[in-house]
Amino acid sequence: MHSLSATFHLTHHCNLRCTYCYTGEKLPVAMTYKTIDDSIAFIENELKTLETNRLHITFFGGEPLIEKEKIFYIIGEFSKKENIDVSYRMSTNGTLLSEDLIKQLYDNNVFVSLSVDGHPDIHDTHRVDAGGKPTSHKVAKAADMMLCHNPATNVTCVLSPDTAYQLCESVDYIFNLGFRYITTTLDYSADWQLEHFAILKKSYQKLSKWYVDKMLKNERFYLSFFDERIRSRTYKPIAASERCQIGTKQFSIAPNGELYPCIQFVKTKAIPEFMIGHVREGFDAACQNHLYQQSEKEKPECNGCKLEARCSKWCSCINFMSTGRIDKASPIVCYNEKILIEIVDKAADKLWKKRNNTFIHKHYNEDYAVISHFEITL
Ligand code: SF4
Ligand code: SF4
Repeated sequence: MHSLSATFHLTHHCNLRCTYCYTGEKLPVAMTYKTIDDSIAFIENELKTLETNRLHITFFGGEPLIEKEKIFYIIGEFSKKENIDVSYRMSTNGTLLSEDLIKQLYDNNVFVSLSVDGHPDIHDTHRVDAGGKPTSHKVAKAADMMLCHNPATNVTCVLSPDTAYQLCESVDYIFNLGFRYITTTLDYSADWQLEHFAILKKSYQKLSKWYVDKMLKNERFYLSFFDERIRSRTYKPIAASERCQIGTKQFSIAPNGELYPCIQFVKTKAIPEFMIGHVREGFDAACQNHLYQQSEKEKPECNGCKLEARCSKWCSCINFMSTGRIDKASPIVCYNEKILIEIVDKAADKLWKKRNNTFIHKHYNEDYAVISHFEITL
């Protein structure tokens, strides 16, 4: 069954100044209650058009917890609509979390994802506050509190050219904090040079040993860099229908109610060419369709590549961050996939040859995700 995904960008403001942040100037511009109400009405209408009642809401910013009252207002409004099956997620830098707030979020079934780039030296390289001061100590405190309430909390870890050399150590640090769901991603807006990919390759080789070692010890965990690519080989590549389908079944709502295809397009300084409508006026079908056609265009640079079915070059947002265009494959994705897929496949072959029980369950048992989530949260 179809579902609809809507992201509320509750504010352009943030208490941090991460050096790789793509959202632009941090201004105290927040979504008003009127725009929230209009957004909810717009979403209800879209659900009817799509003939679905399944809705995924994400709270985003800036830092969404600056507007925490509005998070609970939105949840309260949707709870009055019995016919909508809604799930909630939130991405946060963690520095504004308190014990009470975490409890309130989990009591309302908000799945929270915390940003941690690695051990303190690495995290503080890019994730600093408005005065340029480190934030890792605050995040470590938030991590403890969050894991007490939900051991299945996800961490998002961003890798930059100058932190790539510590990837394995960073993942190990996050794992030792107690996290078992680790989503790793590159900073696609950074200036990645060939020398950085050479460093990255060494880091992936080290991480591969780490991954195999943990699997042989029958640890239950998810590491996106490895598990997503093993999945794309074991099962089938991500079908076009499962992808985001830019700006159609997934969209972002800016604080002023403007609609954009994805989070990367919502910035303090608007980019009009990527605006696909407004919650008060609905979608601009011509613009929406134009962007969709652009994103689905053949990429001649990928012709004949044997990795095409497994590569994430279809992600328009990543392409946009890296090249400023959505119809051109990102060279960062290209270099990264070529290096990483080879290393991941070797690790998977090793575990398969050893008939590693955890590996076989994780990648060949469709119930594994549910079972392991249950085991992790016990
Ligand atoms: S916490 Fe998020 S929104 Fe705030 S500066 Fe960092 S990346 Fe940007
Ligand atoms: S690895 Fe490079 S050439 Fe191959 S599909 Fe991905 S982006 Fe295209």
